[in-house]
Amino acid sequence: MDEEPAEPYRIKVIEPIRLLDREERKNRIKEAHYNVFNLKSEDVYIDLLTDSGTSAMSDTQWAAMMSGDEAYAGSGSFYRFTKAVQDVLGYRYLIPTHQGRAAENVLIGNLVKKGDIVPFNMPFDTTSNHIRVNGGQPVECALDVAYEPQQVHPFKGNVDIDKLEDLVKKVGVGRIPFVMVTITNNTGGGQPVSMENLREVRMMTSRYGIPLYLDAARCVENSYFVHRRENGYENKTLAEITLETFSYADGCTFSAKKDPMANIGGFIALNDEKTYHELLPRLVTYEGFTTYGGLAGRDLECLAQSLYEMTDERYVANRIRQVEYLGKLIESRGIKIVKPVGGHAVFVDVAAFLPHLPQSQFPADALAAELYAESGVRGVGLGALAFSRLDEETGEQVFPKLELLRLAIPRRVYTDRHMDAVADGLGRVYERRKEIRGLKIVYEPPLLRHFLARLERV
Ligand SMILES: *Cc1c(COP(=O)(O)O)cnc(C)c1O
Repeated sequence: MDEEPAEPYRIKVIEPIRLLDREERKNRIKEAHYNVFNLKSEDVYIDLLTDSGTSAMSDTQWAAMMSGDEAYAGSGSFYRFTKAVQDVLGYRYLIPTHQGRAAENVLIGNLVKKGDIVPFNMPFDTTSNHIRVNGGQPVECALDVAYEPQQVHPFKGNVDIDKLEDLVKKVGVGRIPFVMVTITNNTGGGQPVSMENLREVRMMTSRYGIPLYLDAARCVENSYFVHRRENGYENKTLAEITLETFSYADGCTFSAKKDPMANIGGFIALNDEKTYHELLPRLVTYEGFTTYGGLAGRDLECLAQSLYEMTDERYVANRIRQVEYLGKLIESRGIKIVKPVGGHAVFVDVAAFLPHLPQSQFPADALAAELYAESGVRGVGLGALAFSRLDEETGEQVFPKLELLRLAIPRRVYTDRHMDAVADGLGRVYERRKEIRGLKIVYEPPLLRHFLARLERV
């Protein structure tokens, strides 16, 4: 097939956006207490806060919405969604939920108890919180290179098998309800996990009799990297690679707001009938009846269509190309980013960008605020504000290893010209980086402070 030089779609519906004046932008970010989560969408020119639920749906996804069956029980849309899960992921049972974290609530709330340990490559923040809320502890078993932003590795999201096995031996199988692998590894920069690594994790967990689940929000972006980088997968389709990926796990939690390009939705999919029935009462308590789980019939119908659509080779190739395009533009300005560029976002290495700011002054969030004021672009800081924790023994602040600014690219939403504008804005901030001041907290809630904190300039 010839490689297409441009987007494999054309635009049928548009939504106007506008760039406020510089003075207005400065006022808006101040009024937002230097926390980009407090900005109004209408005041943002290019919104790279997240790729979650922000994708442009296709005409076929919208058409599916019109044929949703809104029955409380036994909706036809649920059965079509189940068929899609069976066809695309290869799992028998489907538990729909309103989004990914709700799937985590149902799975983790049932399977994790006090004192349990759940090994990961790296957990996403909501997943980690669900485990802690249930008295368990997530443990990272990522490769050492995963913590080195400048080090290139084709599968930086891989599980370190030795670390995993040491952990299993140390804590004992009885305290490990399951192992979970995040594909792609969002927290580590959207980095892929190889098929070989998944097979190894599978073999090891089977040997110990521990179930394996995937946190699969970006499984198709992962498949694309396997297709491009792993021997033996050059000639396989993304649909084939995706099916093989899921064949190594017992089930998955899934945020449908990512690769499936839906605006809302999530689910658990699994093969084991006994576990499926164990999970249902919690589903009904927190989400809804077993055949809708917190979603409207139209969303279920849309998701059925979305699962088939997400493995389209031409679309995925173009998406990853755009993320790489933004990464190259930013690097060409001398700015350090996490390498290689992952599937859904470019992560700017803020420790290298603002070396004069200590982590106690939240450099990643200071840069996010500065980028907005400079260019109307909204990214998000992922560093000390999001991930610092108090050490349970010493009571001291433990800072995360990485201080990053994430520029997540919504799917099928922005053009390369928007990417040019993002890189130009960030480039201008870089020119005057030495003048940038840090932030201090004036209000923080007890949990999840990076969403809710209020800050001011130091
Ligand atoms: C987004 C995400 C989640 C949570 O899903 P929501 O739909 O936002 O609740 C879980 N894991 C990963 C890897 C994610 O990216």
